[in-house]
Amino acid sequence: MDDSKKILSQQFDDLTKTLQKVITFNTEKGQPSDGAPFGKEIRNCLDYVLNLAKSFGFDTYNDDGYAGHVDFKGTGDKVVGILGHLDVVPSTPSEWKYPPYAAEIHDGKLYGRGTMDDKGPMIACLYAVKALKDAGFVPSKTIRLIFGCDEETDMGCVLHYFKSMPYPDVAFSPDGDFPVINREKGIYHFNITLGKLPTGCVISAGDRANVVPSLCVARIPSDVGINIDGYDSVTATSQNGVTTVTSTGLAAHASTPKEGINAIHPVLKILAQAYPDNASINFLANSLCDSTGADYGIKLHDEQSGDLTLNLGVLKTLDDGTLVATVDIRFPISYNCEYMYTLLKQNTPKEFKVQPWHVSDPLYVPADSELVTTLMKVYNTEMNVNVEPIAIGGGTYSRCLKNCVAFGPLFPNEEQTIHMPNECIDLDNLKRMTEIYMEAIYQLAK
Ligand SMILES: [Zn+2]
Repeated sequence: MDDSKKILSQQFDDLTKTLQKVITFNTEKGQPSDGAPFGKEIRNCLDYVLNLAKSFGFDTYNDDGYAGHVDFKGTGDKVVGILGHLDVVPSTPSEWKYPPYAAEIHDGKLYGRGTMDDKGPMIACLYAVKALKDAGFVPSKTIRLIFGCDEETDMGCVLHYFKSMPYPDVAFSPDGDFPVINREKGIYHFNITLGKLPTGCVISAGDRANVVPSLCVARIPSDVGINIDGYDSVTATSQNGVTTVTSTGLAAHASTPKEGINAIHPVLKILAQAYPDNASINFLANSLCDSTGADYGIKLHDEQSGDLTLNLGVLKTLDDGTLVATVDIRFPISYNCEYMYTLLKQNTPKEFKVQPWHVSDPLYVPADSELVTTLMKVYNTEMNVNVEPIAIGGGTYSRCLKNCVAFGPLFPNEEQTIHMPNECIDLDNLKRMTEIYMEAIYQLAK
């Protein structure tokens, strides 16, 4: 292992240059074509990485451009998987200090879309495995790096890949946080189709279930009296017989609704007073304006992963006046999607329709499992700390596999730039994570 660390150190410049090259492929999802289901640039990037891995002496497999893998063959049958992705979320170049696909280095940081999510950590793992191989390590389990190409949108990559490929026996995904995320809450996204709004009343807010909406606008006839006293973030203006009620809040991720301010809540409370007989408005005002789920009768909690959270993310008024609400619930790991459906049906008036459209059971790999204890021991030793695995409300790539946890790349207290303008990776952290990944892979595959 001492040898591999030395080799890694010698090859760190190569690693950085490879990562720069990989960042220059604009792998935002594009138009599908033959052999490139998520766009040509993603396919080119995948080809580049697989060809490079082949030149290192590894076996590679290209799943028709959906995903690909790199194998360092072991002496036994078991497979240790490392799951990451090459596609990235879109970026708006005008918001960036340095162009998102130029891979420039400034002040010890490499800037570019995908540097942290998820090209950086995956190239780190590739060079970690190369250093082990160059040091003469012979694994008993096959080490398999799986490069997905559609993580950020529809997971079409893993869905296709695992139709023909077996699941690894054990795996980690460098697409989350350090130390180890071994508990991820269940995700329940659903619509409630409510009844009709009163004549002349229209409400709209939000466009994504998983974001706390920061703006809500309602229009109502001016002869309907409303009282906005006590709501500092709400304004009301009247023109041509129509009153426009505008509420501003603060956006946040739906898994942490308390970090935001939901702009919909005050509007519903105000309208519920103005329209005491409208069942749809009153149901939403009385049941869906509480991010703990208590008002809805679905407040759940467990010791392992904490409280359920609820976000009323989107409100839309259809042309015929029907109101539709979109909700994001993150529920504790002791429950499942089936249970959630029963509970939601029970607590929603029969005349309103509950329609789930994206649901995912929780992920839980016990803290005393071999996978988690191994990764935690490596992390604590390398970092000289003594910390515990963590629980999150978000969902990581890990839940596409069995017996898989998220492991890095974001260090505790490190500035978070994932999915944001000026995404960057600190080169010292890149080196450090590569060492951690190398030791973890060695321990899992030896
Ligand atoms: Zn990612």
